[in-house]
Amino acid sequence: MATTISGLTPQQVEHYRRRLKRLIARLRPEVRHLEAEAWRGSEEPVEGAEMPGIDTDPPSQEEEEYLARVLWQNEREILAQAEEALLRIPAGTFGVCVHCGNPVGKERLDMMPYTPYCVDCARKAEAGQLD
Ligand SMILES: [Zn+2]
Repeated sequence: MATTISGLTPQQVEHYRRRLKRLIARLRPEVRHLEAEAWRGSEEPVEGAEMPGIDTDPPSQEEEEYLARVLWQNEREILAQAEEALLRIPAGTFGVCVHCGNPVGKERLDMMPYTPYCVDCARKAEAGQLD
């Protein structure tokens, strides 16, 4: 069976491609929604977002916005990574770490088909030590 540099068969890549497509389809509207939630009452206006009544309970709205921002940042990041991962499929580099060029590994891709890094590089990236 033909394999790629990532060690994945074309069938496996196709499986991840479908998962990425589904993930992107789900995240896109969610990220838009969270973005509108996250900056409802603050000084940073969001295009297309409606100004809420200012008479809502301030602390709880602040909390909601904070939570929405955390989720928005996370999901936006995953969405961007998923879109990039999808582009690596036709390029033939899906499943290959964008930093070191080693295979990402099937187990890791099963959990995070959108990840650009192998486990070692992901640790370094998180610690801000990726050069
Ligand atoms: Zn790596």
